[in-house]
Amino acid sequence: MVQKEYRDMCDTYVMRNFARDILITKGKGAHVWDDEGNEYIDCVAGIAVCSTGHAHPKVAEAICRQAQELIHISNLFYIPGQAQLAKRIAEKAGLKGGRVFFSNSGSEAVEAAVKLARVRTGRARFVAFKSGFHGRTYGALSLTHKEDYRLPFTPLPYECEFVEYGDLEGLKAVMDDTVAAVIIEPVQGEAGVIPAPAGFMEDVRRVCDEHEALMIADEVQTGFGRTGKWFAFQHSTIQPDIITMAKGIASGFPMGGIVAREGLEFLPGEHGGTFNGGPLACAAALATMDVIEEVIGDIERKGARFREGLAAFNPRQRGLMIGVTLGDRCAPVKQYCEEHGVLVNCTSGNLRIVPPLVIPDEDIDEAVRVINEALNS
Ligand SMILES: *Cc1c(COP(=O)(O)O)cnc(C)c1O
Repeated sequence: MVQKEYRDMCDTYVMRNFARDILITKGKGAHVWDDEGNEYIDCVAGIAVCSTGHAHPKVAEAICRQAQELIHISNLFYIPGQAQLAKRIAEKAGLKGGRVFFSNSGSEAVEAAVKLARVRTGRARFVAFKSGFHGRTYGALSLTHKEDYRLPFTPLPYECEFVEYGDLEGLKAVMDDTVAAVIIEPVQGEAGVIPAPAGFMEDVRRVCDEHEALMIADEVQTGFGRTGKWFAFQHSTIQPDIITMAKGIASGFPMGGIVAREGLEFLPGEHGGTFNGGPLACAAALATMDVIEEVIGDIERKGARFREGLAAFNPRQRGLMIGVTLGDRCAPVKQYCEEHGVLVNCTSGNLRIVPPLVIPDEDIDEAVRVINEALNS
């Protein structure tokens, strides 16, 4: 079907809450193709999701093999791959006595973290950071700062105080012994790739400990190798109590989850989900972790290649998360890139570059060339 017909059908039958333009029909590695045969280097990767690139043979094969064995069975039974995946994730996270709860998305992961913090601390207040993003479901939305997302949906279930990202004094001022948890993105993603200032993760940890509040690291975007480590908190010296994860976990198969340290778990009946940690998702995630294992040592170098290539525009970079502040120029820059074969994303007036972790150097160089051209035009 050509784009025009498809667009009309989409606009007639699908809710129009998403703004979109291009129709992508195929992907391979770091490249995708639209319905007119145009080829793009994909520096969006399904919003930091397709870490192994598109149609990675190991991931595709694992999904196909599992689909032929067992697609779904529910958590009424032990699930093939779930234990193996949980063990592997818990080991990568490195929290003492860490256990995993699986979900199907990032918002659901945050939802689980919020419920766990609420039920285990007996407290119901939260602290989060300005410009932070934690998802769209009600619990997650309670902790998400952007007023456009929040205000139409008030009242929200949780009281949440928002502190300037990096502001230790501001944090101390809102903390007391009624706070269940502080949630923080180690690098703010939707805000446009804003890394926490040096030492701030440690500051948050210390303030949480002073008030016996939990620290939740929202690693939905930063986890699974995106910043060059399995989890971005691992660039700091601290450990959070709860880690949320999703985007890059299973190469685009919907999945998420949390890891919580010893002593923090749901009791029977406290939380659940029909699809959570299903056989297909676990197979996709296990294969994804195999591929990330192969490339993780090279991610900082690749990110630095982007940073150096874009140095004239003061990029912020952590692993393969790169952000450039552009304000109103973002939309035309994005469009120029698209017209010249590179997909990029605009978020909060910033160019966000989050390519597949498997992107080869020649694609980085070509993407950098086009983005520079766009920024100079
Ligand atoms: C994307 C994102 C979420 C929400 O994940 P969904 O899968 O879209 O529900 C939550 N937290 C962070 C940091 C994210 O980047």
